[in-house]
Amino acid sequence: MFDAPRAARIEALAYDYDSRAKESVGTCNLCGGSRLAEVSRTDRYGYPAVLAVCTRCGLGFLSPRLNSAEYAAFYDGVYRPLVSAYHGRLIDAETVQEEQREYADGLADHLARVLGAPPRSIVDIGGSTGAVAGPLCARFGATATVIDPAPDELRVAQDAGMETIAGLAEDYDPAGRTWDLVLLCQTIDHLLDVAGTLAALRSMIAPEGNAFVDVLDVRFMMRRRGSIEGAVKIDHPFYLTRSTALGHFARAGLSVESERLAGDGHWGFVLSPAEPAEPDWPGLGKGAERLLAEAWALRATGA
Ligand SMILES: [Zn+2]
Repeated sequence: MFDAPRAARIEALAYDYDSRAKESVGTCNLCGGSRLAEVSRTDRYGYPAVLAVCTRCGLGFLSPRLNSAEYAAFYDGVYRPLVSAYHGRLIDAETVQEEQREYADGLADHLARVLGAPPRSIVDIGGSTGAVAGPLCARFGATATVIDPAPDELRVAQDAGMETIAGLAEDYDPAGRTWDLVLLCQTIDHLLDVAGTLAALRSMIAPEGNAFVDVLDVRFMMRRRGSIEGAVKIDHPFYLTRSTALGHFARAGLSVESERLAGDGHWGFVLSPAEPAEPDWPGLGKGAERLLAEAWALRATGA
């Protein structure tokens, strides 16, 4: 549904997505395939972003997408104002803090139920202000490290006494350092290389440790928003489902210990290190069919 005040707020930001430098993504980050189905050409903000779905495994991704320098510029000053304009209320380092508190409490309850022992050290990749790492560390009595590209948000984490590392998850070299619990919360869809980041994440897990990763399920979001475009946003280069997340974990050498579907469509996975393995390719093929069928049904009903 067209929302004129929302469109005017986004227009007022004068972010010229069309003219920003982009790169095309010719092969799938999960299966390496190159048979893609283009399913939409506009995102929820009205920017001309093309969503492609790999017909072999069902991984969704933007192509073309902003290049890495453009994404860095996007996160340094455009992202939060854009999300604020979309929702019609201020969203910044402070408000994110409050909103993520509830998320952190729910996650802490889940982890307390499924982890064998409380983690002594926690790192949050893409951890923003430490709004999730902070409450988890308080709950488990652990030390906190936050890795994030946004300096304003890291400052909040630093002021709260957490160790901070500035930079993109993709560029961070842990150099052998490990943590009892590695978090990648509400972040995987923002990455430019899911497979590469999961491989790095695996190397950061202590031998008896775990990771928690969640993905915003794109089929869930299409259904909830009632359109394909409503599920697409330039801040998400990748669009995963439960199936494609499981495929990525298998390839990265991460075995699933427990799963959790949150009310907002995030599928969460508690993971432990394992040997890399071939994903369930026939299952991924069926997942691709389901996702394309969902897109077809929404298109057919005029959404
Ligand atoms: Zn694929």
